[in-house]
Amino acid sequence: MTPPNPPLKGRAKKISYFSAAMDLSVIIPIYNEEANIGLLYNRLKGVLDGLPIESYEMVFINDGSRDASLALIKGLTVTDKNVRYIDFSRNFGHQVAVTAGLDACIGNAVVIIDADLQDPPELIGDLYAKHKEGYQVVYAQRRSRSGESFFKKFTAKMFYRILARITSVNIPVDTGDFRLIDRVIVNILKEMPEQQKYLRGQIAWIGFNQIAVEYDRDERNAGETGYTFKKMMRLGIRWAYGLF
Ligand code: UDP
Ligand code: MG
Repeated sequence: MTPPNPPLKGRAKKISYFSAAMDLSVIIPIYNEEANIGLLYNRLKGVLDGLPIESYEMVFINDGSRDASLALIKGLTVTDKNVRYIDFSRNFGHQVAVTAGLDACIGNAVVIIDADLQDPPELIGDLYAKHKEGYQVVYAQRRSRSGESFFKKFTAKMFYRILARITSVNIPVDTGDFRLIDRVIVNILKEMPEQQKYLRGQIAWIGFNQIAVEYDRDERNAGETGYTFKKMMRLGIRWAYGLF
């Protein structure tokens, strides 16, 4: 009989640094965003070309879109060598899409951003500046949410506050997945075995130096939300359950 593996001591020390070949990766989950991809790309490119970095990649994850999103993304890869993509066989959901992007990206810093321009690409400059100051997690915190119903705002607020109460992890309120994370955080996420990912919860749990940058959340530029209230609740509750 072989003896069991000894427990890992100093877990964080066991994680090897990935020799990142890019300064920055931007992860963009895509579900039926044909009306947003062109404008998103132009705004992202404008911001990224102006950053004090030498290399970046945009990683699009097509999460089973039924519109022309994939064709548009493929078109971008023809004209821009900084664009890469992953194409899913069907719709798996936002968290799975972002996770695939995190697994595939090679940036030293990684930004997760929605495709519908509710997360303004121009904020990436601020996120990056904070990262340079020494923060491993720089999350974008909503100061306001325009164009969303009272019901959506109220339920979102309650949701984050309840989650903070029932878990021992302090998840910052009014934040989504729009954030910059350092490669060290990406590598730890890759080692976490959760089958049901809840990235904003997991990242809060990981620790290191975390800070918020405030912004005003815009309305969705075009198209419809793929994120229903039911989906949001299911995500958070399932993840919280694993902590008990
Ligand atoms: N998204 C995805 N898979 C889904 C639903 C959404 O990849 O099943 C993407 C979507 O294209 C967008 C981001 O996840 O880039 C956030 O989705 P959405 O804007 O619909 O959510 P909301 O802002 O309404 O919470
Ligand atoms: Mg949205």
